[in-house]
Amino acid sequence: MAKLTTQQLEQFQQRLQARKRELMGELDDAQAEVLTGTDTVGREVIDQKDLADRAEEANLHEAEAERDHRELLVVQAALNRIEAGTYGVCIDCEEPIALARLEAWPAAARCLPCQEAHEQQL
Ligand SMILES: [Zn+2]
Repeated sequence: MAKLTTQQLEQFQQRLQARKRELMGELDDAQAEVLTGTDTVGREVIDQKDLADRAEEANLHEAEAERDHRELLVVQAALNRIEAGTYGVCIDCEEPIALARLEAWPAAARCLPCQEAHEQQL
């Protein structure tokens, strides 16, 4: 397969940067919501149910934030590979990753066969 053109690289870089900004925004929101809490400020007694609800809500945000955080790392790694000039090459077998795959998922670090093998190991 032909190497990616500069134009293609720039396009992927832009998409990755946009996704990164989006994820950073989501992370900020999720963390802000957990930190600021809700309407309990100033109330002297917080009942048990309230506490349970809050804990559940915090857990939910945490799971979301964790997912976003993990994707952010993957997106950042792809941006680093663009900088390093190794973008579009599978990190396992070092073969070029199919363009269609990169278009569907610009942060892809592995070609499809390697990704499938990797997921089976998990
Ligand atoms: Zn591979």
